[in-house]
Amino acid sequence: MTTSTRSTIVSILLTVSLSTIPSTSQTQAPQPKLSVHWEELTAADFREGIHRSQGTCLLPFGILEKHGPHLPLGTDLLDVRYAALHAAEQEYAVVFPEYYFGQIAEARHEPGTIAYSREMQLALLQETTDEMARNGCKKVIIVNGHGGNEHLLPFFAQSQLDKPHDYVVYVFDRRSPESGGPPKKSTIDMHAGESETSKMMISRPDTVHLDRANTESGADQHRQNLPEDVYTGIWWYARFPNHYSGDGSAATKELGKFQMDWWIDAVAKAIRAIKADEVSLKLQNEFYEKGKHPLDTQP
Ligand SMILES: [Zn+2]
Repeated sequence: MTTSTRSTIVSILLTVSLSTIPSTSQTQAPQPKLSVHWEELTAADFREGIHRSQGTCLLPFGILEKHGPHLPLGTDLLDVRYAALHAAEQEYAVVFPEYYFGQIAEARHEPGTIAYSREMQLALLQETTDEMARNGCKKVIIVNGHGGNEHLLPFFAQSQLDKPHDYVVYVFDRRSPESGGPPKKSTIDMHAGESETSKMMISRPDTVHLDRANTESGADQHRQNLPEDVYTGIWWYARFPNHYSGDGSAATKELGKFQMDWWIDAVAKAIRAIKADEVSLKLQNEFYEKGKHPLDTQP
């Protein structure tokens, strides 16, 4: 069963059961259904949403970049929003609107890429989380949908220690389980490959052009000869100049459903754990305070 089918059934059951509840004064009023979409809430409902979510908000983070010859530019944005919105419906959280202002310098040579400067990426993200927190989101969960953000987001979270903030930034950065599910056919599967294509067959099948997946090569071209622990920014272009890594034609709906269900469930679990986290903000505040007079800090 897909999560959307499940939520449809849940809402049908809810409608049926609500219509059979007698309207006596002893009956507890059911919580009215609230959208998880920030932009769909009225101002008053937003206040209720922040209360209901215990100040927990999701910032699903996508990007606009080429995804092989067969997937849309917004693949990461579409997939991460699908996962985050379904997770928030399981465990209520307010979900910030479309956000795709991340790190993608390595795809500037491809059509449709929007690559903001590093200063803009950091400034916009900081102002966005600051504004979310000013509106009551004291726990901001960045759900990452784009591999190119894997250094940006921990750096952003770490740099929150530079000066006091009255909120915590949490980063959730996994899109597929390590094992399990239908066996995979391809060995390289990093970008627009078997997994990502399969997930898009669940989130937005109408945008997947499987028949085009083999019109370009997603093979590793090994054009750099350096030890594994030496990093350069050009590594990705050296290996995958077509901005395609893997073989999207191997994708199946079964794999997509397994991975998407895992992703939704993992985000919902993270929301639950973060709602229960009473330690991080306390430790942050203690740390900021100590940071004002480091000579007084004792082991
Ligand atoms: Zn992607």
